[in-house]
Amino acid sequence: MGKFYLTTAIDYSNGDPHLGHALEKIGADCIARWRRLRGDQVHFLMGMDEHSQSVIAAAAAGGTTPREWVDRMAERFERFWRRLECSNDDWIRTTEPRHQAGVTALLDRIREREPGDLFEGEYEGLYCTGCEEFKTDAQIVDGRCGEHPTLALVPTKERNWFFRLSRYRDPLLRLISSGEFAVEPAIRRNEVLRLLEAGLQDISISRQRMPWGIPFPGDSQQTVYVWFDALINYLSATGFPEPGYERLWPADLHVIGKGITRFHCVIWPAMLLAAGVALPREVWAHGYVQWEGTKMSKTAGTAVTLDEAIDRHGSGPLRYFLLREVGFENDGNFTWDRFDERYNADLADGLGNLASRSLAMLAKYRDGKVPEATESTALDEAGSRLMDSYAAAMDAFDLKTACERAGALVSEANQYIVATAPWTLAKNEDNAALDRTLAALVRCLVRLAGMTGPFMPSKASELWRALGCSDDLWSVHWGSLIAPQVAGLQTIRPPILFPKPEQANP
Ligand SMILES: [Zn+2]
Repeated sequence: MGKFYLTTAIDYSNGDPHLGHALEKIGADCIARWRRLRGDQVHFLMGMDEHSQSVIAAAAAGGTTPREWVDRMAERFERFWRRLECSNDDWIRTTEPRHQAGVTALLDRIREREPGDLFEGEYEGLYCTGCEEFKTDAQIVDGRCGEHPTLALVPTKERNWFFRLSRYRDPLLRLISSGEFAVEPAIRRNEVLRLLEAGLQDISISRQRMPWGIPFPGDSQQTVYVWFDALINYLSATGFPEPGYERLWPADLHVIGKGITRFHCVIWPAMLLAAGVALPREVWAHGYVQWEGTKMSKTAGTAVTLDEAIDRHGSGPLRYFLLREVGFENDGNFTWDRFDERYNADLADGLGNLASRSLAMLAKYRDGKVPEATESTALDEAGSRLMDSYAAAMDAFDLKTACERAGALVSEANQYIVATAPWTLAKNEDNAALDRTLAALVRCLVRLAGMTGPFMPSKASELWRALGCSDDLWSVHWGSLIAPQVAGLQTIRPPILFPKPEQANP
């Protein structure tokens, strides 16, 4: 138990978020909620990257100013994250004064500590406006950016400030290989190590006379390069350089997409080493949501809108589907058919049906009141075993496996109902056996509310309330869910948790 500061990548404010953005935010939110359940002091940061060149273009195309544009986009993004039940504690925008102060302070520290690390030079190269970075030969495929094959690279030449990144190759190799600075999953760590072994080039960290961005300290002709600026958000959100920022810093976890590991696992830690600021403990780089095998991207025209995806079955089921089916490690596919199948099988016919039949039996045989029967059953044993393995998976950010454990407990409960046949016990007036079965089912549902909570927060809370639990699900501790005390709880028959289209709640 302790402080747990986690962040997501901050998004460009040049268009609406799509499922790819959503996967990252809900994966991080799921981890944040899990750590809160475990009793950690969680601080969860999300935000917006507002200084990109594409903002100028998007604002101009929309007939407005960059400032009005980013305000409008920040509002849109926040609306989506609220719809998706993101529980971030802070929201940083890189146009905020607190961020500008952090960026200036970090550059000043580098200049004081390692004056040779910042130097002026000429930069000539091919610039990708999608990535907002100059591309190296290795990143160019058929004359295009590998991440943005639909955009033309722009030849650019100008005077810039440079950061002596090459100096940090050896320290980074050591820190990453030793796990002192953890890069996960292993496939991403190995990619970063190969990249470091191949050697690092110094990088340009300013742009000339940009009308939109943070002025480069000590050089009014130059603006801080948007990526250099953006990375610092994780630190500026802690209040850096003001005293007390170490209450949150270093970050315990940066959640990012696999396409930006070079920035987060090479450039960012090198910047911090140069400034003498502690490194984050871990970076987790997730895969992409694909649509029939291709990257979902607005520029490539293969994006499902988030509103469409949420409207299909609600935010909880969308969160569940993305983390269960697409996963948080490798690339995975999103299709409407699979979404509908999982919704029906896992949620409507699985968890939802289990809750409604259990609570219906309780209502019918015991007026909804949970009997005094604390004896542990086979279902309790399965429950605590699956909770252990769920917790291990959650701690390892293996969200897919954790979902599977919850699903396995639903199956165990359904088998337990068949095996104990409560309707027969009721007919035979075997009250002790019926009490035992009904109480075991309620304990199982309490456990399932805890296990599904990080994935489907409002659905789990609905189940929690139907079980008659007095506290808020989010105020309880995981440990109290392992052997829950349920005797005497007054349950209610809940509305259908996961209605099928033909049986929507009135
Ligand atoms: Zn690109």
